[in-house]
Amino acid sequence: MRDAAPTTIYLKDYTPFGFDVEKVELTFDLHPTKTRVKSRISFVPKPGAPSDMFLDGENLTLVSASIDGTPVHPEVSAEGLTCPVPDAPFLWEAEVEIDPENNTALEGLYMSNGMYCTQCEAQGFRKITYYPDRPDVMSVFTVEINGPHPVLLSNGNVVSTSQGHAVWHDPWPKPAYLFALVAGDLVAHSDSFVTASGRNVDLNLYVRPGDEGKCAFGMRALKASMTWDEEVYGREYDLDLFNIVAVDDFNMGAMENKGLNVFNSSAVLASPETSTDENFLRIEAIIAHEYFHNWTGNRITCRDWFQLCLKEGLTVYRDSQFTSDMRSAPVKRITDVIDLRARQFPEDQGPLAHPVRPESFQEINNFYTATVYEKGAEVIGMLRCLVGAEAYGKALDLYFGRHDGQACTIEDWLKVFEDTTGRDLGQFKRWYSQAGTPRLTVKDAWYNGTYILSFTQNLPASETTPDPQPQVIPILTGLLSPSGQEVVPSQVLEMTQATQSFTFEGLKERPIPSVLRGFSAPVVLESELAAEHTAFLLAHDTDPFNRWEAGRSLARASLLKMITDDAAPDPAYLDGIHAVVGDATLDPAYRALMLNLPGQSDLVKSLCDMGETPDPQAIWDACRAMSHAQAERLQDILPALFDAHQVTEPYEPNADQSGRRSLANAALRLVSLIDGPDRARGQFTSADNMTQQLSALGVLLRINEGTDELEAFEQQWKHDRLVMDKWFGMQVIHADPNETAATATRLTEHPDFNWKNPNRFRAVMGSLAAHHAGFHFADGQSYGLLADWLIRLDPVNPQTTARMCSAFQTWRRYDDARQQKIAAALDRILATPGLSRDTTEMLTRIRGS
Ligand SMILES: [Zn+2]
Repeated sequence: MRDAAPTTIYLKDYTPFGFDVEKVELTFDLHPTKTRVKSRISFVPKPGAPSDMFLDGENLTLVSASIDGTPVHPEVSAEGLTCPVPDAPFLWEAEVEIDPENNTALEGLYMSNGMYCTQCEAQGFRKITYYPDRPDVMSVFTVEINGPHPVLLSNGNVVSTSQGHAVWHDPWPKPAYLFALVAGDLVAHSDSFVTASGRNVDLNLYVRPGDEGKCAFGMRALKASMTWDEEVYGREYDLDLFNIVAVDDFNMGAMENKGLNVFNSSAVLASPETSTDENFLRIEAIIAHEYFHNWTGNRITCRDWFQLCLKEGLTVYRDSQFTSDMRSAPVKRITDVIDLRARQFPEDQGPLAHPVRPESFQEINNFYTATVYEKGAEVIGMLRCLVGAEAYGKALDLYFGRHDGQACTIEDWLKVFEDTTGRDLGQFKRWYSQAGTPRLTVKDAWYNGTYILSFTQNLPASETTPDPQPQVIPILTGLLSPSGQEVVPSQVLEMTQATQSFTFEGLKERPIPSVLRGFSAPVVLESELAAEHTAFLLAHDTDPFNRWEAGRSLARASLLKMITDDAAPDPAYLDGIHAVVGDATLDPAYRALMLNLPGQSDLVKSLCDMGETPDPQAIWDACRAMSHAQAERLQDILPALFDAHQVTEPYEPNADQSGRRSLANAALRLVSLIDGPDRARGQFTSADNMTQQLSALGVLLRINEGTDELEAFEQQWKHDRLVMDKWFGMQVIHADPNETAATATRLTEHPDFNWKNPNRFRAVMGSLAAHHAGFHFADGQSYGLLADWLIRLDPVNPQTTARMCSAFQTWRRYDDARQQKIAAALDRILATPGLSRDTTEMLTRIRGS
């Protein structure tokens, strides 16, 4: 069944549901193509409730329905059913039939490798039974499962279980999007946790037989998350049981269903032999994220889907605090900002721009975006910066105390801060309602001992924000003396006007400013300060983020000159990173980050801002030339860096070891540009963990070597689907631009290219889109290839298709010839008969007029 003409839903139209749902009882008789779902739901009309009740429902076959035992015959449409109801409490009973095996969209109840699994956020529950599928309807669920599987799971605590039968009860009222059911031939990796108040919690990580050896790290991360949330936020777990299930076919990373988290297997399964340090880090963060949702999302949920950032922004912020505490805070901050600039800035600066709290949507699945998640977290970081850590803690305590068990809004969230601090957050709220990345310009002046920093903020107008108003921008700033002493320590300059100056008195000599320390606001900083300040900050800044940022600014400026003026790489930049990377007193992970270059799409935006037409191949060539220049300038220290940071003790995915490996591998990447493939070959052969093996293979592919190693890797790992995702992805990522499309095409013909599996599809097509110069290669073949595959995937899995469309979001930044090719690709997809609502909405917004 296809959707009718898309309708737009508006925040301003919110109305509460007319009925309370007292309790829900569900019975599942599992069958691959004919699962029967019986529901018994106790409704209580609110004052003024309508005489007809509407229940959401999609792709359901209604078998029977009754009210208080009397059969009824509701009016059924593609979106749900309408039925006359009594004006007093009543019992609704219905039986529907669904087809999990043919549910390839992976929403609702579906099958993955023989196991049953659900995904209900945002609106998947309506594909399971008729229900008011909205987050502000919360109820207590009891679930009975009948099926021939050894493991039958749902939310909450187990009531009874026997062969082929299980009953679950969740005492905590919850919205339907947190419902989950899993049934399959699974094995548990078990442990337990005692909460601060002494509750014993059984912990299980359920996986397919054969994956038992990949569970230990995930379990450790779960227990660390539980401890951290008690210690830092005072939040305890609230059931006797916490289950995690790993699933191969999953659209997202993971899902925080109450007491039964469902994870993409790539986001939970890990072993040293098959997972990289980055994989371990990501798994630790996702496990923490989903666990933290138990309070920020489940106990306090969203009133409607426009408030998605209420749970996501806050939970991303919490998981980033957790990672900072577990590992290195500066390294976490830098990697978060790299990610923000790579994913959120292009969204915020293009046709998909929307406020952190959008005001309308057609398909809510399209708003699980970097803006809602990552910018949403940045907004909370700014709030904490403005009110201070202590007031933040008090406000959160008030939030949990006041709103436990409720479905809330951003207004509720801001109110706890206003009530705690007495501040008026009316202007701050613009961060939730205005789209776009503010530009912050800074200049300075010095008069006889008085130093003045002047800022101007400018938010470009956009379709959703036609008349932008000044926002509150916390600018964390410190001042350094010319000898590198910190003469004014970090303080928050609170900018509220379009243009604003801040004065510092009593200084002996003109200071060097370090502004926007820690990236205290998600803005684009344009500095009119003296250019030599940047090299000074790279050498002396006491704020680790800004020291890194200084290196990055010098790299960007130099690359732009190389691209536009054919200039040579800037010696001041190369000298500066030589000093930092060679400084053994600094964290190796931090030094490795110093060697990264700005993202190529980031450079595209800078070139557009300069009035230039970006040439992806020229950008690629400049980045390659800069890497060579780095290798030559650091030639005297690279071999020693490589040797000195080898890890000889048994593998641990902790911050210390992974930091050393990241610096050794950064050195390997550069030194191989000069010395050739021998070191990388040696490392590939001797590696006893995936980090070392994959790094070595990447280095070889980058210098057009590694054919034999690719084959050896495939032979070694062809039985392991998660490792094979890496094998598929890296061939595309490391291809030369003119060969990227051909490489991706060849991989789609590989017998193991199971394109209906989202992880495998993303490994090839996501890598194609991520290879900037390859995706935008002048012949346009990559555009056509991606379009072909999106057309093919859309009827099978609209959600993954729609997300992948963002590859085209920056298309207006390129030259006419490329724009024409992209427009043709977009129009071809849009002209596909029966295109999903998800993909239609995304492409219509991207395409524009
Ligand atoms: Zn989340």
